[in-house]
Amino acid sequence: MEYRSLRFDTQTLDLENFQGNAVVNYTDSDIPYTRVIEHKHFESAVCPRTVITYECPRSWRPGMEPFYPVNDEKNNALYQKYAELAADRADVFFGGRLGGYKYYDMDKVIESALDAAERLL
Ligand SMILES: Cc1cc2nc3c(=O)[nH]c(=O)nc-3n(C[C@H](O)[C@H](O)[C@H](O)COP(=O)(O)OP(=O)(O)OC[C@H]3O[C@@H](n4cnc5c(N)ncnc54)[C@H](O)[C@@H]3O)c2cc1C
Repeated sequence: MEYRSLRFDTQTLDLENFQGNAVVNYTDSDIPYTRVIEHKHFESAVCPRTVITYECPRSWRPGMEPFYPVNDEKNNALYQKYAELAADRADVFFGGRLGGYKYYDMDKVIESALDAAERLL
């Protein structure tokens, strides 16, 4: 199955504050990054410099770290075939964002883990 990957470009700046917020999203396709993280704002750190990370989408190939499933028709159909094979086995369970091949955020992945624990344990 196919995935999307990311390149993280991290920079330390001689600035106290870069963007005033932990996360700023960019949705314009002309901009090569999808968001900028300014780490100090997650915990209100006080320091004269700041560290920022640009998240730049990039295509995935085997051997690279997968970050997002590609939930199109072709890949979902292939996932379904694996799920059907696994359904015949008592010792194989798919879980989580990559295992379940679903675009979960944290709340949804925790909910799915709790559901799986209830079903399996
Ligand atoms: C770039 C990015 C940004 C995100 N931003 C947000 C956000 O802002 N808000 C939000 O709610 N969610 C966000 N998410 C989604 C959230 O991070 C995921 O939904 C969540 O982490 C998925 O949890 P998981 O347990 O399924 O997988 P993971 O957190 O990926 O955990 C899987 C674990 O399995 C380990 N593993 C993999 N293969 C093996 C193996 N063969 N043997 C042993 N261990 C293995 C991995 O090392 C990893 O520790 C983001 C995800 C990404 C990738």
